[in-house]
Amino acid sequence: MSGSLRCRIAGCPRDVAPPLSVQGVCVGHYLDDVLDRLNAALNLCQAGKSIEYGAFDWLLTQGDFAARALEHGGGATDPVERTRLLELLLCLANLHEYARHHSVEAPAPARAASGAEAP
Ligand SMILES: [Zn+2]
Repeated sequence: MSGSLRCRIAGCPRDVAPPLSVQGVCVGHYLDDVLDRLNAALNLCQAGKSIEYGAFDWLLTQGDFAARALEHGGGATDPVERTRLLELLLCLANLHEYARHHSVEAPAPARAASGAEAP
């Protein structure tokens, strides 16, 4: 076993989970950060505003980490944190849905209303 990294948030005694070595924070602080950004992004979506492409892309890649952290040995052993990781994945799925339905720039093709056709 290699020596583990310590969370870089001041005063936090926790170790960094292997999938988080790039971020350098523990699962708890990681979740605080990502859920914060995710909620901000969802609020933008709900307000009909678009999310910066980079931010959106970044958030989507976090789904990979969340899924890996939930695996055995992925670093998320605390039941509360596992629940929050699932919440993260759920929010991410919502964000994906919003993006699919709302960020389409092209005008929607005109659809004939039902009953508009003459018999
Ligand atoms: Zn921490």
